Amino acid sequence: MQGNINEKLQVPVLIDGKKFVPDVNSYGEVRNPCTGKIIGVVPMCGETVVDAAAQAARAAFPSWADLPATKRASIMFNFRELLKSHFDELAKTLTYEHGKTMEESRGDIQRGIEVVEFACGMPHILKGENLTQVADFIDGETVREPLGVCAGITPFNFPAMVPMWMFPIALACGNTFILKPSEKVPFTAMMLADLLMKAGVPDGVFNIVHGGVDAVNALCAHPLISAVSFVGSSKVAKHVYTRSCEYGKRVQSAGGAKNALVVLPDADVDSAIRAIIGSALGCTGQRCMAGSLLVAVGAAGDMLVDKLLEAMDALKMGDTSCGLPADLGPVIDASARDRVFRYIGLGVEEGASLLRDGRQGVPNQGYFVGPTLFDNVKPEMSIARDEIFGPLLSMLRFQTLDEAIAFVNNIPYGNGSTLFTASGSAARQFAREISCGMVGINVGVPAPMSMFPFSGWKESFYGDLHVQGMEGAMFYTRQKTILSRWDKQYIRRQGW
Ligand code: NAD
Repeated sequence: MQGNINEKLQVPVLIDGKKFVPDVNSYGEVRNPCTGKIIGVVPMCGETVVDAAAQAARAAFPSWADLPATKRASIMFNFRELLKSHFDELAKTLTYEHGKTMEESRGDIQRGIEVVEFACGMPHILKGENLTQVADFIDGETVREPLGVCAGITPFNFPAMVPMWMFPIALACGNTFILKPSEKVPFTAMMLADLLMKAGVPDGVFNIVHGGVDAVNALCAHPLISAVSFVGSSKVAKHVYTRSCEYGKRVQSAGGAKNALVVLPDADVDSAIRAIIGSALGCTGQRCMAGSLLVAVGAAGDMLVDKLLEAMDALKMGDTSCGLPADLGPVIDASARDRVFRYIGLGVEEGASLLRDGRQGVPNQGYFVGPTLFDNVKPEMSIARDEIFGPLLSMLRFQTLDEAIAFVNNIPYGNGSTLFTASGSAARQFAREISCGMVGINVGVPAPMSMFPFSGWKESFYGDLHVQGMEGAMFYTRQKTILSRWDKQYIRRQGW
């Protein structure tokens, strides 16, 4: 976006505690996905703005790192209270810019708050190890120290939770931080920054830059930045991982997904239907843990179809940002809607049976796609292979659990898979043999809570230590091993 810009809509950056609109070459539009109306204009930052943020974060690092861990934790406690007292305001902002329902926005924020609560316990987690008398008069200990300036690059689909997977842990460990939120949803991030500053985070400790490719490339290469956390699509995750590694940084880079929901004929049908609908259509299918493949074993396919269609028909699609009740919001923008529409066309062309067509009956403003169901999908079809990121569920049918597991293990992504069954032995086989990082047994979205790592595998994650939980704290700290020798000579010489 170039030319005349409505100043009232401009979204500032936050650098060294100051909010301002930087002088940049181009600007991005932020649209309300329910209406398509422009609600903000973000500066597409490049090297210069990223450098200013990195300098500020570097300058703020020594005193923040030196602050006792309990004081940093107490700021996190303040932040947690502020998130709670501004919960509704945050949820409204999130729905306004993202389009998810208010209930989904509350869930997005709540999951973020749980990470802040985890970060409140950091003084305990940061404790090192020691062994006295590792040799005569020598004691050994390890301590955990912060890395310096860390950067977080986040996707549009969880504007509160995903940034909060990163910065509360990084800050509580003593690092300073630069967040580059998705240019499609900058407002929630700015609100989080306001609350963080109100909680007592000093100037420069937390900074926000906006933008896309140029900002990301500058963050991955900046010499003052020690670590990069990324969450987004696999192609960009791999790029961020490779580029940041090239510049010697520590990286955790989470990518896209294609998650399977495997159903055995002995599953409890009603609770499986509820979980499948929630998993495939919650947040309009725009979740990295969305179940987009329904893998029916034996008679399970026939058992599910009619009930699925009934549940899909019952969902109310509509403008989530105007306060009216809706179960299903829009997708994020016109190109996301067109992508899902294109895949519906491709599914038909490749020979799958379209049982419900989400291109029909959508509101005529905003970026809506209705629930879509395909049956008789084959593993080689595009709708079985590609991450579509919309409310489209593809059903494949297999005769045995072994065949279903073999199919799932062949998917290049490795975020989550779920099995619906009443059989403990089937559940055990599934959990042991499935090749992905997050497994559900009768749980539609097996997204780990804040004390566990968000442990994607294969093309869903590049790096070693995942976001969240202990792995998050390990990622944002490095160990120092100290060997101390204090023999008795000195005391003897003093004559004590
Ligand atoms: P995206 O990859 O388009 O964007 C993510 C971030 O990268 C944004 O901040 C964006 O500005 C930046 N970016 C985009 N293109 C870039 C490029 N070519 N070079 C450098 N930076 C670039 O992802 P999205 O559309 O915002 O989010 C949806 C994706 O995120 C889906 O693939 C979803 O599965 C994934 N996701 C994964 C997880 C996980 O934990 N694995 C969680 C949430 C979302």
